[in-house]
Amino acid sequence: MRKNIVAGNWKMNMTYQDGLALISEITNMVADEVTGSEVEIVVCPPFPLLHAIGKQLPQNDHFHLGAQNCHQKESGAYTGEVSAKMLQSVGVEYVILGHSERRQYFREDDELLSQKLKAALGAGLKPIFCVGESLETREADDTNEFIAKQLQNGLFHLSNEEFDQVVIAYEPIWAIGTGKTATSQQAQEVHAFIREQIARAYDAEAALNTTILYGGSANAQNAKELFSQPDVDGGLIGGASLKSRDFTEIIKSF
Ligand code: PGA
Repeated sequence: MRKNIVAGNWKMNMTYQDGLALISEITNMVADEVTGSEVEIVVCPPFPLLHAIGKQLPQNDHFHLGAQNCHQKESGAYTGEVSAKMLQSVGVEYVILGHSERRQYFREDDELLSQKLKAALGAGLKPIFCVGESLETREADDTNEFIAKQLQNGLFHLSNEEFDQVVIAYEPIWAIGTGKTATSQQAQEVHAFIREQIARAYDAEAALNTTILYGGSANAQNAKELFSQPDVDGGLIGGASLKSRDFTEIIKSF
């Protein structure tokens, strides 16, 4: 059966000191809440903080470490880049790939993302693969078609075994960092559509077992409603993951 996951995407925020302080607050606050629950918490700090944050996470089934990106090559002369294998070697389990900010600001296209997925899986990491439409696309009523293409071109080249490792995040671009959340109904519609596409590309079992997260201005107020939707299995949280109380409330929203 699929897992419920709350992942915090810190983006390019937090110094080493701030990050350690935040994580100690979060782990103190959630300590009692998550015992006995099934939720997985994935913390995704910037690269320089990964090792230290990973060491500070409680050693239990609930807390996991994630990165926000990786390079497609295993090693070599790629100044400034970080490989999936390096991430794995410092305790990283998940890696966010295809975030709309990477697609937009760093021109990551389906072809490159396919390579990054392979690299991540090759190193034993679990990709959190993001898809999501712009406001223009939604207003033109092209959302489903657009998402289907992102899945087809970026993700569905994976084998069944590889796909088993993947978490999908639906993040409508118009909702990211804007305070404008998708309604729970809008989220549910796209999540159900994504599940249908998985069933077509793989099989019904794969569709049933894939965790699909919602991302885009999810917060302590709207998380419960979003997570109550049958096809929403948690969230990829940006802004609200930087505040210990908000993030903890979101974790408690299942
Ligand atoms: P947000 O970001 O929660 O700040 O909207 C979500 C994301 O980009 O992953």
